[in-house]
Amino acid sequence: MRFPLALSAKIAGHIIKHKLRKTPKFAMVLQLEPLHTCNLTCTGCGRIREYSTSLKDIVPLEKCLQAATECDAPMVSICGGEPLIYPKIEELVNGILAQGRIVYVCTNGMFMRKKMKDYLAAIYSPQVEPKLKQLLAEGLISDPDAETIRKSDEAARKKTVIRPTKWMYWNVHVDGLEFTHDLIVEREGVFKECVAAIRMAKILGYQTATNTTVYKETDVQEIEDMFRFLSSLEVDAHTISPGYEYDAAKKDMIKRLGKQPEDFFLTRKMTREKFKDMEKWADRFTIIGTRVYQEFLAGKRELTCTAWAIPTYNIKGWKAPCYLMTDGHYNGYQEMLREVNWEKYGVVNGVARDPRCENCMVHCGYDPSGALGTNYQPGDNWKNLKYNFGARPRPYPASPQLSQRAFNGVSIGKGHLAPARAALKTAGLTQEGADTEFYVQQMKTSAAKGARATQTAAPTPKAVAAAIRRSATSC
Ligand code: SF4
Ligand code: SF4
Repeated sequence: MRFPLALSAKIAGHIIKHKLRKTPKFAMVLQLEPLHTCNLTCTGCGRIREYSTSLKDIVPLEKCLQAATECDAPMVSICGGEPLIYPKIEELVNGILAQGRIVYVCTNGMFMRKKMKDYLAAIYSPQVEPKLKQLLAEGLISDPDAETIRKSDEAARKKTVIRPTKWMYWNVHVDGLEFTHDLIVEREGVFKECVAAIRMAKILGYQTATNTTVYKETDVQEIEDMFRFLSSLEVDAHTISPGYEYDAAKKDMIKRLGKQPEDFFLTRKMTREKFKDMEKWADRFTIIGTRVYQEFLAGKRELTCTAWAIPTYNIKGWKAPCYLMTDGHYNGYQEMLREVNWEKYGVVNGVARDPRCENCMVHCGYDPSGALGTNYQPGDNWKNLKYNFGARPRPYPASPQLSQRAFNGVSIGKGHLAPARAALKTAGLTQEGADTEFYVQQMKTSAAKGARATQTAAPTPKAVAAAIRRSATSC
Protein backbone atom coordinates (compact mmCIF):
# COMPACT_ATOMS: atom_id res chain seq x y z
CA MET A 1 0.00 0.00 0.00
CA ARG A 2 1.05 3.55 -0.70
CA PHE A 3 0.82 4.50 2.99
CA PRO A 4 0.38 2.30 6.10
CA LEU A 5 -3.18 0.92 6.17
CA ALA A 6 -3.86 1.91 9.78
CA LEU A 7 -2.97 5.54 9.06
CA SER A 8 -4.99 5.88 5.85
CA ALA A 9 -7.91 4.12 7.54
CA LYS A 10 -7.74 6.50 10.51
CA ILE A 11 -7.99 9.57 8.31
CA ALA A 12 -10.71 8.07 6.10
CA GLY A 13 -12.65 7.05 9.23
CA HIS A 14 -12.43 10.59 10.61
CA ILE A 15 -13.87 12.08 7.42
CA ILE A 16 -16.65 9.48 7.21
CA LYS A 17 -17.59 10.05 10.89
CA HIS A 18 -18.01 13.79 10.37
CA LYS A 19 -19.80 13.35 7.05
CA LEU A 20 -22.32 11.04 8.74
CA ARG A 21 -22.78 13.54 11.58
CA LYS A 22 -23.05 16.33 8.99
CA THR A 23 -20.43 18.40 10.87
CA PRO A 24 -20.14 21.55 8.77
CA LYS A 25 -16.49 22.27 9.56
CA PHE A 26 -13.91 20.12 11.30
CA ALA A 27 -10.13 19.76 11.59
CA MET A 28 -8.15 17.20 9.59
CA VAL A 29 -4.60 18.28 10.42
CA LEU A 30 -3.47 20.54 13.26
CA GLN A 31 -0.48 22.72 12.43
CA LEU A 32 0.99 23.08 15.88
CA GLU A 33 3.66 25.73 16.31
CA PRO A 34 5.00 25.34 19.85
CA LEU A 35 7.64 28.02 19.15
CA HIS A 36 8.97 30.20 16.35
CA THR A 37 12.64 30.00 17.27
CA CYS A 38 14.73 28.61 14.44
CA ASN A 39 18.39 27.95 13.75
CA LEU A 40 17.93 28.90 10.06
CA THR A 41 16.63 31.96 8.24
CA CYS A 42 15.15 30.57 5.04
CA THR A 43 14.21 32.96 2.29
CA GLY A 44 10.44 33.01 1.96
CA CYS A 45 9.73 31.85 5.53
CA GLY A 46 6.87 33.89 6.96
CA ARG A 47 7.05 32.48 10.46
CA ILE A 48 10.37 33.76 11.71
CA ARG A 49 9.47 37.18 10.31
CA GLU A 50 5.94 37.47 11.62
CA TYR A 51 6.30 36.15 15.18
CA SER A 52 8.75 36.54 18.03
CA THR A 53 11.56 34.02 17.68
CA SER A 54 12.50 34.32 21.34
CA LEU A 55 12.71 31.11 23.32
CA LYS A 56 10.71 32.93 25.98
CA ASP A 57 7.70 32.91 23.66
CA ILE A 58 6.87 29.23 23.57
CA VAL A 59 3.55 27.44 24.05
CA PRO A 60 3.55 25.39 27.28
CA LEU A 61 3.37 21.63 26.76
CA GLU A 62 -0.08 21.29 28.38
CA LYS A 63 -1.53 23.94 26.06
CA CYS A 64 -0.10 22.16 23.02
CA LEU A 65 -1.70 18.89 24.09
CA GLN A 66 -5.00 20.65 24.86
CA ALA A 67 -5.02 22.22 21.38
CA ALA A 68 -4.75 18.77 19.79
CA THR A 69 -7.57 17.44 21.96
CA GLU A 70 -9.71 20.48 21.32
CA CYS A 71 -9.67 20.39 17.53
CA ASP A 72 -9.47 16.57 17.50
CA ALA A 73 -7.57 16.38 14.21
CA PRO A 74 -6.35 12.82 13.54
CA MET A 75 -3.01 14.19 12.41
CA VAL A 76 -0.78 16.77 14.10
CA SER A 77 2.03 18.44 12.26
CA ILE A 78 4.47 19.87 14.80
CA CYS A 79 6.19 22.73 13.06
CA GLY A 80 7.42 26.17 14.05
CA GLY A 81 10.15 27.53 14.02
CA GLU A 82 12.28 24.46 14.43
CA PRO A 83 10.34 22.08 16.67
CA LEU A 84 13.44 20.15 17.74
CA ILE A 85 14.52 23.30 19.62
CA TYR A 86 11.33 23.11 21.74
CA PRO A 87 12.56 22.13 25.22
CA LYS A 88 9.85 19.46 25.69
CA ILE A 89 9.65 18.13 22.16
CA GLU A 90 9.98 14.50 23.30
CA GLU A 91 7.12 14.90 25.78
CA LEU A 92 5.06 16.67 23.13
CA VAL A 93 5.53 13.96 20.49
CA ASN A 94 4.81 11.20 23.00
CA GLY A 95 1.83 13.08 24.45
CA ILE A 96 0.18 13.44 21.05
CA LEU A 97 0.92 9.83 20.14
CA ALA A 98 -0.69 8.81 23.43
CA GLN A 99 -3.84 10.66 22.29
CA GLY A 100 -3.95 8.25 19.32
CA ARG A 101 -2.99 10.79 16.66
CA ILE A 102 -0.53 10.62 13.78
CA VAL A 103 2.45 12.94 14.32
CA TYR A 104 4.59 14.68 11.72
CA VAL A 105 7.64 16.44 13.13
CA CYS A 106 8.38 19.10 10.48
CA THR A 107 12.05 19.81 10.86
CA ASN A 108 14.90 21.39 8.95
CA GLY A 109 16.86 18.23 9.81
CA MET A 110 19.76 19.86 11.62
CA PHE A 111 19.06 18.32 15.05
CA MET A 112 17.55 15.01 13.98
CA ARG A 113 20.70 12.96 14.34
CA LYS A 114 21.17 14.33 17.87
CA LYS A 115 17.65 13.22 18.82
CA MET A 116 18.23 9.77 17.31
CA LYS A 117 21.50 9.43 19.24
CA ASP A 118 19.53 10.20 22.43
CA TYR A 119 17.16 7.40 21.43
CA LEU A 120 20.07 4.98 20.91
CA ALA A 121 21.54 5.91 24.29
CA ALA A 122 18.18 5.32 25.97
CA ILE A 123 17.76 1.84 24.50
CA TYR A 124 21.40 0.73 24.36
CA SER A 125 22.10 -2.97 24.92
CA PRO A 126 24.44 -5.37 23.08
CA GLN A 127 21.58 -6.03 20.62
CA VAL A 128 22.00 -2.47 19.37
CA GLU A 129 25.61 -3.11 18.30
CA PRO A 130 24.85 -4.17 14.70
CA LYS A 131 22.97 -0.90 14.16
CA LEU A 132 25.81 1.10 15.72
CA LYS A 133 28.29 -0.65 13.47
CA GLN A 134 26.19 0.10 10.40
CA LEU A 135 25.84 3.77 11.40
CA LEU A 136 29.59 3.98 11.95
CA ALA A 137 30.35 2.27 8.66
CA GLU A 138 28.11 4.70 6.80
CA GLY A 139 29.63 7.72 8.55
CA LEU A 140 26.35 8.68 10.21
CA ILE A 141 27.76 8.70 13.73
CA SER A 142 31.34 9.17 14.91
CA ASP A 143 33.43 6.89 17.12
CA PRO A 144 33.00 9.25 20.10
CA ASP A 145 29.22 9.22 19.46
CA ALA A 146 29.20 5.43 19.56
CA GLU A 147 31.21 5.42 22.79
CA THR A 148 28.81 7.91 24.41
CA ILE A 149 25.88 5.72 23.38
CA ARG A 150 27.55 2.59 24.75
CA LYS A 151 28.37 4.27 28.06
CA SER A 152 24.92 5.79 28.49
CA ASP A 153 24.21 6.45 32.15
CA GLU A 154 21.03 6.17 34.18
CA ALA A 155 19.93 9.69 33.19
CA ALA A 156 20.31 8.93 29.47
CA ARG A 157 18.35 5.69 29.87
CA LYS A 158 15.52 7.40 31.71
CA LYS A 159 15.29 10.27 29.27
CA THR A 160 12.05 10.60 27.29
CA VAL A 161 13.05 10.08 23.66
CA ILE A 162 11.46 10.03 20.22
CA ARG A 163 11.16 6.36 19.26
CA PRO A 164 10.36 4.88 15.87
CA THR A 165 6.69 4.05 15.38
CA LYS A 166 4.45 3.81 12.35
CA TRP A 167 2.40 6.67 13.83
CA MET A 168 5.24 9.19 13.68
CA TYR A 169 7.14 10.67 10.72
CA TRP A 170 10.21 12.84 10.63
CA ASN A 171 9.10 15.36 7.98
CA VAL A 172 12.26 16.98 6.64
CA HIS A 173 12.20 20.28 4.79
CA VAL A 174 13.90 19.77 1.38
CA ASP A 175 13.34 22.43 -1.28
CA GLY A 176 15.51 20.98 -4.03
CA LEU A 177 18.89 19.39 -4.56
CA GLU A 178 21.99 20.57 -2.71
CA PHE A 179 22.64 23.78 -4.60
CA THR A 180 19.06 25.03 -4.51
CA HIS A 181 18.20 23.84 -1.03
CA ASP A 182 21.23 25.42 0.60
CA LEU A 183 20.54 28.67 -1.20
CA ILE A 184 16.94 28.76 -0.03
CA VAL A 185 17.81 27.94 3.56
CA GLU A 186 20.70 30.41 3.28
CA ARG A 187 23.27 28.05 4.74
CA GLU A 188 25.71 25.59 3.22
CA GLY A 189 25.77 22.00 4.37
CA VAL A 190 22.09 21.79 5.30
CA PHE A 191 21.16 19.48 2.41
CA LYS A 192 23.99 17.10 3.33
CA GLU A 193 22.82 17.03 6.93
CA CYS A 194 19.20 16.37 5.88
CA VAL A 195 20.30 13.42 3.76
CA ALA A 196 22.45 12.03 6.58
CA ALA A 197 19.54 12.39 9.01
CA ILE A 198 17.14 10.63 6.64
CA ARG A 199 19.60 7.76 6.10
CA MET A 200 20.10 7.35 9.84
CA ALA A 201 16.35 7.45 10.45
CA LYS A 202 15.76 4.72 7.85
CA ILE A 203 18.41 2.48 9.42
CA LEU A 204 16.77 2.88 12.82
CA GLY A 205 13.27 2.11 11.51
CA TYR A 206 11.69 5.57 11.69
CA GLN A 207 9.12 6.68 9.12
CA THR A 208 10.48 9.54 7.05
CA ALA A 209 8.81 12.18 4.92
CA THR A 210 9.92 15.33 3.15
CA ASN A 211 8.15 18.60 2.47
CA THR A 212 8.98 20.78 -0.49
CA THR A 213 7.87 24.26 -1.44
CA VAL A 214 8.03 25.22 -5.10
CA TYR A 215 8.96 28.81 -5.95
CA LYS A 216 9.02 30.70 -9.20
CA GLU A 217 12.70 29.96 -9.65
CA THR A 218 12.32 26.25 -8.94
CA ASP A 219 13.31 24.09 -11.88
CA VAL A 220 10.70 21.38 -12.42
CA GLN A 221 13.28 18.91 -13.74
CA GLU A 222 15.19 19.39 -10.52
CA ILE A 223 12.07 18.54 -8.50
CA GLU A 224 11.79 15.26 -10.41
CA ASP A 225 15.47 14.55 -9.78
CA MET A 226 14.97 15.37 -6.11
CA PHE A 227 12.05 12.91 -5.85
CA ARG A 228 14.11 10.24 -7.61
CA PHE A 229 16.97 10.77 -5.18
CA LEU A 230 14.69 10.77 -2.13
CA SER A 231 12.98 7.66 -3.45
CA SER A 232 16.37 5.95 -3.68
CA LEU A 233 16.78 6.75 0.04
CA GLU A 234 13.39 5.03 0.54
CA VAL A 235 11.73 8.10 2.01
CA ASP A 236 8.21 7.03 2.94
CA ALA A 237 6.15 10.09 2.01
CA HIS A 238 6.39 13.56 0.47
CA THR A 239 4.36 16.73 0.55
CA ILE A 240 4.82 19.33 -2.14
CA SER A 241 3.13 22.69 -2.36
CA PRO A 242 3.49 25.93 -4.28
CA GLY A 243 4.95 28.75 -2.19
CA TYR A 244 2.76 31.52 -0.83
CA GLU A 245 3.73 35.17 -0.79
CA TYR A 246 3.65 35.90 2.95
CA ASP A 247 3.43 39.61 3.65
CA ALA A 248 6.25 39.34 6.18
CA ALA A 249 8.47 37.39 3.78
CA LYS A 250 7.78 39.89 1.00
CA LYS A 251 8.79 42.84 3.17
CA ASP A 252 11.94 41.02 4.30
CA MET A 253 12.82 40.22 0.71
CA ILE A 254 12.66 43.87 -0.32
CA LYS A 255 14.45 45.21 2.74
CA ARG A 256 17.16 42.62 3.36
CA LEU A 257 17.80 41.18 -0.08
CA GLY A 258 16.80 44.05 -2.35
CA LYS A 259 14.57 41.66 -4.33
CA GLN A 260 11.09 42.08 -5.75
CA PRO A 261 8.62 39.46 -4.43
CA GLU A 262 7.12 38.97 -7.91
CA ASP A 263 10.51 37.57 -8.99
CA PHE A 264 10.27 34.84 -6.35
CA PHE A 265 6.65 33.83 -5.77
CA LEU A 266 4.28 32.07 -8.14
CA THR A 267 1.03 33.25 -9.70
CA ARG A 268 -1.74 30.66 -10.18
CA LYS A 269 -0.95 30.41 -13.86
CA MET A 270 2.72 29.74 -13.15
CA THR A 271 1.81 27.21 -10.46
CA ARG A 272 -0.29 25.24 -12.93
CA GLU A 273 2.52 25.28 -15.43
CA LYS A 274 5.01 24.00 -12.83
CA PHE A 275 2.62 21.32 -11.56
CA LYS A 276 1.29 20.11 -14.89
CA ASP A 277 2.91 16.68 -14.31
CA MET A 278 1.72 16.44 -10.72
CA GLU A 279 -0.34 13.29 -11.28
CA LYS A 280 2.56 11.56 -13.01
CA TRP A 281 4.83 12.46 -10.08
CA ALA A 282 2.23 11.11 -7.68
CA ASP A 283 2.11 7.83 -9.62
CA ARG A 284 5.87 7.44 -9.36
CA PHE A 285 6.56 8.79 -5.88
CA THR A 286 4.85 8.48 -2.48
CA ILE A 287 3.28 11.93 -2.49
CA ILE A 288 0.78 12.50 0.33
CA GLY A 289 -2.62 14.00 -0.41
CA THR A 290 -5.64 13.53 -2.60
CA ARG A 291 -5.87 12.89 -6.32
CA VAL A 292 -8.37 15.72 -6.55
CA TYR A 293 -5.87 18.24 -5.13
CA GLN A 294 -3.29 16.97 -7.60
CA GLU A 295 -5.73 17.65 -10.46
CA PHE A 296 -6.32 21.14 -9.03
CA LEU A 297 -2.58 21.88 -9.00
CA ALA A 298 -2.27 20.58 -12.55
CA GLY A 299 -4.94 23.08 -13.65
CA LYS A 300 -7.62 20.50 -14.45
CA ARG A 301 -10.26 21.76 -12.03
CA GLU A 302 -11.18 24.34 -9.40
CA LEU A 303 -11.49 23.84 -5.65
CA THR A 304 -12.76 26.08 -2.86
CA CYS A 305 -10.44 26.80 0.04
CA THR A 306 -11.10 24.88 3.28
CA ALA A 307 -8.46 26.53 5.46
CA TRP A 308 -10.48 25.70 8.60
CA ALA A 309 -9.65 21.99 8.08
CA ILE A 310 -5.92 22.60 8.68
CA PRO A 311 -5.96 25.05 11.59
CA THR A 312 -2.83 26.57 13.09
CA TYR A 313 -2.28 26.95 16.83
CA ASN A 314 0.60 28.97 18.22
CA ILE A 315 1.66 31.29 21.05
CA LYS A 316 -1.08 33.77 20.14
CA GLY A 317 -3.86 31.19 19.87
CA TRP A 318 -5.82 29.84 16.87
CA LYS A 319 -4.63 31.72 13.83
CA ALA A 320 -7.27 32.86 11.34
CA PRO A 321 -8.08 32.48 8.59
CA CYS A 322 -5.20 30.15 7.72
CA TYR A 323 -1.61 29.05 8.11
CA LEU A 324 -0.56 31.81 5.70
CA MET A 325 -2.63 34.91 6.48
CA THR A 326 -3.23 36.44 9.87
CA ASP A 327 -6.37 38.48 10.41
CA GLY A 328 -6.67 37.49 14.06
CA HIS A 329 -6.05 34.89 16.74
CA TYR A 330 -8.77 33.16 18.76
CA ASN A 331 -8.78 31.42 22.13
CA GLY A 332 -10.59 28.30 20.92
CA TYR A 333 -10.92 26.31 17.70
CA GLN A 334 -14.74 26.29 17.86
CA GLU A 335 -14.71 30.00 18.63
CA MET A 336 -12.59 30.59 15.52
CA LEU A 337 -14.95 28.47 13.39
CA ARG A 338 -17.91 30.53 14.66
CA GLU A 339 -16.40 34.00 14.53
CA VAL A 340 -14.55 34.01 11.22
CA ASN A 341 -16.51 34.90 8.10
CA TRP A 342 -15.12 32.11 5.93
CA GLU A 343 -17.05 33.39 2.90
CA LYS A 344 -14.57 36.27 2.69
CA TYR A 345 -11.66 34.03 1.71
CA GLY A 346 -10.45 31.84 -1.13
CA VAL A 347 -10.92 31.93 -4.87
CA VAL A 348 -14.31 30.93 -6.28
CA ASN A 349 -14.74 30.31 -10.00
CA GLY A 350 -11.50 32.10 -10.67
CA VAL A 351 -12.46 35.22 -8.66
CA ALA A 352 -10.49 36.00 -5.51
CA ARG A 353 -12.77 36.90 -2.60
CA ASP A 354 -9.73 38.43 -0.90
CA PRO A 355 -6.89 39.81 -3.02
CA ARG A 356 -4.36 38.07 -0.77
CA CYS A 357 -5.85 34.71 -1.81
CA GLU A 358 -5.50 35.42 -5.51
CA ASN A 359 -2.39 33.33 -6.16
CA CYS A 360 -2.81 30.80 -3.38
CA MET A 361 -3.03 27.08 -4.20
CA VAL A 362 -1.21 25.81 -1.13
CA HIS A 363 -1.90 22.38 0.32
CA CYS A 364 -3.05 23.74 3.69
CA GLY A 365 -5.89 25.58 1.98
CA TYR A 366 -6.85 23.18 -0.78
CA ASP A 367 -5.63 19.63 -0.09
CA PRO A 368 -8.45 19.02 2.43
CA SER A 369 -10.92 20.46 -0.13
CA GLY A 370 -10.01 17.51 -2.35
CA ALA A 371 -10.92 15.08 0.43
CA LEU A 372 -13.98 16.93 1.69
CA GLY A 373 -15.75 17.20 -1.65
CA THR A 374 -16.05 20.96 -2.21
CA ASN A 375 -16.65 21.17 -5.99
CA TYR A 376 -17.45 17.44 -5.96
CA GLN A 377 -17.44 15.60 -9.28
CA PRO A 378 -18.73 12.03 -9.69
CA GLY A 379 -15.94 9.52 -9.07
CA ASP A 380 -13.86 11.83 -6.84
CA ASN A 381 -14.19 9.64 -3.74
CA TRP A 382 -13.13 6.56 -5.66
CA LYS A 383 -10.16 8.42 -7.17
CA ASN A 384 -8.98 9.52 -3.74
CA LEU A 385 -9.47 6.07 -2.20
CA LYS A 386 -7.71 4.35 -5.08
CA TYR A 387 -4.80 6.74 -4.79
CA ASN A 388 -4.34 6.47 -1.02
CA PHE A 389 -5.01 2.75 -0.66
CA GLY A 390 -3.27 1.85 -3.92
CA ALA A 391 0.09 0.18 -4.48
CA ARG A 392 3.21 1.88 -3.22
CA PRO A 393 5.55 3.07 -6.00
CA ARG A 394 8.82 1.15 -6.06
CA PRO A 395 11.89 3.01 -4.81
CA TYR A 396 14.32 4.18 -7.45
CA PRO A 397 17.56 2.22 -7.34
CA ALA A 398 20.40 4.19 -5.76
CA SER A 399 23.19 5.00 -8.18
CA PRO A 400 26.34 7.14 -8.24
CA GLN A 401 24.77 9.25 -11.02
CA LEU A 402 21.74 10.02 -8.86
CA SER A 403 23.96 10.98 -5.93
CA GLN A 404 26.15 13.13 -8.12
CA ARG A 405 23.08 14.93 -9.38
CA ALA A 406 21.81 15.43 -5.82
CA PHE A 407 25.09 16.74 -4.43
CA ASN A 408 25.44 19.21 -7.22
CA GLY A 409 28.08 21.47 -5.85
CA VAL A 410 28.73 24.74 -4.17
CA SER A 411 25.84 26.66 -2.78
CA ILE A 412 26.18 30.08 -1.38
CA GLY A 413 23.96 32.40 0.13
CA LYS A 414 21.08 34.61 0.00
CA GLY A 415 18.50 32.33 -1.44
CA HIS A 416 17.98 33.70 -4.91
CA LEU A 417 18.88 31.39 -7.65
CA ALA A 418 18.91 33.66 -10.66
CA PRO A 419 21.66 36.01 -9.39
CA ALA A 420 23.54 33.07 -7.93
CA ARG A 421 23.53 31.28 -11.26
CA ALA A 422 24.44 34.50 -13.06
CA ALA A 423 27.41 34.98 -10.75
CA LEU A 424 28.57 31.43 -11.37
CA LYS A 425 28.18 31.99 -15.08
CA THR A 426 30.16 35.20 -14.89
CA ALA A 427 32.89 33.22 -13.21
CA GLY A 428 32.75 30.78 -16.13
CA LEU A 429 31.18 28.03 -14.06
CA THR A 430 27.99 26.03 -13.77
CA GLN A 431 26.30 24.78 -10.66
CA GLU A 432 27.18 21.15 -11.22
CA GLY A 433 29.27 19.19 -8.75
CA ALA A 434 31.94 18.81 -11.40
CA ASP A 435 32.84 22.43 -10.80
CA THR A 436 33.54 21.78 -7.16
CA GLU A 437 35.79 18.96 -8.23
CA PHE A 438 37.39 21.36 -10.70
CA TYR A 439 38.19 23.89 -7.96
CA VAL A 440 39.65 21.21 -5.78
CA GLN A 441 41.88 19.94 -8.58
CA GLN A 442 42.92 23.47 -9.49
CA MET A 443 43.80 24.30 -5.93
CA LYS A 444 45.73 21.07 -5.45
CA THR A 445 47.66 21.73 -8.63
CA SER A 446 48.37 25.32 -7.59
CA ALA A 447 49.46 24.25 -4.15
CA ALA A 448 51.73 21.56 -5.60
CA LYS A 449 53.41 24.07 -7.84
CA GLY A 450 53.60 26.60 -5.03
CA ALA A 451 51.88 28.94 -7.40
CA ARG A 452 50.07 31.99 -6.22
CA ALA A 453 46.60 32.53 -7.56
CA THR A 454 46.47 34.96 -10.41
CA GLN A 455 43.58 36.75 -11.98
CA THR A 456 43.41 34.18 -14.76
CA ALA A 457 43.36 31.17 -12.42
CA ALA A 458 40.04 29.46 -11.65
CA PRO A 459 38.31 31.38 -8.86
CA THR A 460 38.26 29.75 -5.45
CA PRO A 461 34.90 28.78 -3.92
CA LYS A 462 35.39 31.67 -1.46
CA ALA A 463 35.74 34.16 -4.31
CA VAL A 464 32.65 32.81 -6.03
CA ALA A 465 30.79 33.00 -2.73
CA ALA A 466 31.71 36.65 -2.39
CA ALA A 467 30.67 37.33 -5.99
CA ILE A 468 27.33 35.69 -5.46
CA ARG A 469 26.70 37.53 -2.22
CA ARG A 470 27.42 40.83 -3.95
CA SER A 471 25.19 39.84 -6.83
CA ALA A 472 22.35 38.56 -4.65
CA THR A 473 22.21 41.64 -2.48
CA SER A 474 22.59 44.23 -5.16
CA CYS A 475 19.99 43.36 -7.76
S1 SF4 B 1 13.64 25.94 8.84
FE1 SF4 B 1 11.43 26.31 8.69
S2 SF4 B 1 10.95 27.72 10.38
FE2 SF4 B 1 13.17 27.73 10.11
S3 SF4 B 1 13.54 29.50 8.80
FE3 SF4 B 1 13.39 27.67 7.48
S4 SF4 B 1 11.22 27.57 6.85
FE4 SF4 B 1 11.36 28.99 8.61
S1 SF4 C 1 -6.96 30.79 -0.30
FE1 SF4 C 1 -4.96 30.47 0.68
S2 SF4 C 1 -4.47 32.45 1.59
FE2 SF4 C 1 -6.68 32.45 1.16
S3 SF4 C 1 -7.64 31.72 3.06
FE3 SF4 C 1 -7.34 29.94 1.75
S4 SF4 C 1 -5.36 29.10 2.41
FE4 SF4 C 1 -5.47 31.19 3.17
